Amino acid sequence: MKPDVLVLQEIRPDQMKQLEAAYTLHRYDQVGDPDALLAEVGDKIEAVVTSGGSGITRAQIERMPNLKIASLSSVGYDTVDLAACNDHGVTVTNTPDVLNDDVADTAIMLLLAVQRGLVKGDAYARSGEWAKSGPMPLLRSTRGKKLGVVGLGRIGKAIAERATPFGLNIVYHGRNKQDAVDYPYYADLKEMAQDVDIMIVITAGGEGTRGLISKDVIEALGPDGALINVSRGTVVDEPAMIEALQSGKLGAAGLDVFLNEPDIDPAFAALENVTLYPHHASGTIETRAAMSQLVVDNLAAHFAGKPLLTPVN
Ligand code: NDP
Repeated sequence: MKPDVLVLQEIRPDQMKQLEAAYTLHRYDQVGDPDALLAEVGDKIEAVVTSGGSGITRAQIERMPNLKIASLSSVGYDTVDLAACNDHGVTVTNTPDVLNDDVADTAIMLLLAVQRGLVKGDAYARSGEWAKSGPMPLLRSTRGKKLGVVGLGRIGKAIAERATPFGLNIVYHGRNKQDAVDYPYYADLKEMAQDVDIMIVITAGGEGTRGLISKDVIEALGPDGALINVSRGTVVDEPAMIEALQSGKLGAAGLDVFLNEPDIDPAFAALENVTLYPHHASGTIETRAAMSQLVVDNLAAHFAGKPLLTPVN
């Protein structure tokens, strides 16, 4: 008898095939009436496959009394009700490390795109404006600027490593100073915002960081400052950021994540000083395959009674 697994969010096709071979899959993500599916098979479900996008709620968990593991295809688990998982003895696994390179690359891509006006420049060349009006206005160099990383974790460190050869001076903020790290530490986020030219946000999401990049922090970054967010939309006070970008209190922003995805605030479309990316920092074939394989391997370890590869709780 194959164990019953509920799929809230599918993974890559090769790894879906591995799941199909090992388990009886119930496709919550494909049925017209997920509630009816849970009513029908909830008692049988031993494992769930989900992601940061779909998460899992207490109400869903309570309808699966035999659920033991939720295997996530994301590193962030802010949409998973961890308290409910703990209450019901459900282990959560995620996909750390395998996405560090692509997410860090995306942060640097946004940083350079913002600094050098890539999107505006593309439009300038494409539209014929260059031929009509001559060269684009001069911009600011990246070398020698101060970069503040908010959340110097696995991805934050990969960002700092990439930023160093660009001649950026790196400082960081987190809840704790890290002894193994030489970059200067700021316990006070607003103080760091005042001192840096560019800030990259790459903390965890969830209630612990909601609105961490507040109106005060945004205004401390200032009219010449740039804010890059690749963490979660919830970490930034988005209305305050939009207002600051409109009024010039914040110079520019490069954003991969938003409060309401995918229906982002229409105000963004009218702002010339933002560069937008559709929450796609880990969106490469290679990384999504590695994330999907971790989902499969964590489930296999669980059902073989072996230690999990990447447990969260
Ligand atoms: P880590 O856990 O390794 O790092 C998280 C960092 O955030 C730590 O350095 C931690 O430092 C800091 N942090 C946590 N809470 C706070 C707080 N309240 N204030 C300040 N700093 C805080 O995680 P990863 O680097 O692997 O991933 C980070 C996040 O990146 C994920 O949780 C996810 O939200 C996001 N992400 C986004 C992707 C995208 O597609 N845009 C893709 C992948 C990840 P300390 O403990 O010292 O506070």
